[in-house]
Amino acid sequence: MDRQNTIGSAVSVTGIGLHTGAPVSVRLLPARANWGIVFRRSDLEGFEIEAQARNVARVSYATSLMKRGVLISTTEHLLSALVASGVDNVVVEIDNLELPIMDGSAEPFVHMIEAVGVRPQRARRRYAKVLKPVEVVDGDKRIAVYPSDSFRISYRISFPHPLIADQSFEFSPTPARYAVEVAPARTFGFVDEIEMLRKNGLIRGGSRENAVVLTRDGVMNTLRFPDEFCRHKVLDLIGDLALLGHPLIGHVVADRAGHAMHFALVSSLLRDRSAWAVVSSDELQPAKAQIVVGTGAARAVGAR
Ligand SMILES: [Zn+2]
Repeated sequence: MDRQNTIGSAVSVTGIGLHTGAPVSVRLLPARANWGIVFRRSDLEGFEIEAQARNVARVSYATSLMKRGVLISTTEHLLSALVASGVDNVVVEIDNLELPIMDGSAEPFVHMIEAVGVRPQRARRRYAKVLKPVEVVDGDKRIAVYPSDSFRISYRISFPHPLIADQSFEFSPTPARYAVEVAPARTFGFVDEIEMLRKNGLIRGGSRENAVVLTRDGVMNTLRFPDEFCRHKVLDLIGDLALLGHPLIGHVVADRAGHAMHFALVSSLLRDRSAWAVVSSDELQPAKAQIVVGTGAARAVGAR
């Protein structure tokens, strides 16, 4: 049976925020079953913000949470590492408003979780099983989710840049596959955009140490995968889907999407409760009773 997990023990890491450039330390703490993922601002008397769609504030260049005026910014890479590693219940304590960017990927967070391990809990895991297609379209951007027996992602991006052009990536997440194929993929940006972002007070902590920087026809870093860009979109999507509050059972198909589209899909699902159901793992396998009855009966069913 599929149980909920927390982490084996407390673990911490330090870094700087991508947008604020401010130093920040993060401490993950084990939490009880059915607790979920909850951020805690240790610099604000332990103020807590649940990683839930209702607390999402901004989704332009990062996914930020806000509750009663308190902000937690750039949550998606840590959320991605947590849910993809199978962590359901954890307290994420931070002493500033933005999560550290680390190397621009989720790999340092995966290593942090691996260092203490995941610990199974008594409670069953509950999934959001998609029952009918849900689609969001915005110009040439599209994201949809379809019923499926497992969680799968098909992601496609298209940028007018020789190193990106058209890329697609198919992914059926397991913790081991995520750690190798998706977690190391770094965030990326175009050198032309950097000035505009800086003017808007963003990416003050950004550098080639924590992002893949694309020039007009090249790249300032060594790529970790030829399709690192598309893999990073998959990483972001997994983190943004965590805001649904349950692991998803469905096939997500994304075309030129981003944080805003990812969150639009989460919002559409939350608005249409007929499109999905909360099920535990032993309810996921459909009963096949009609196939195991006598052959005569099966033939009779087939003949109708
Ligand atoms: Zn990202």
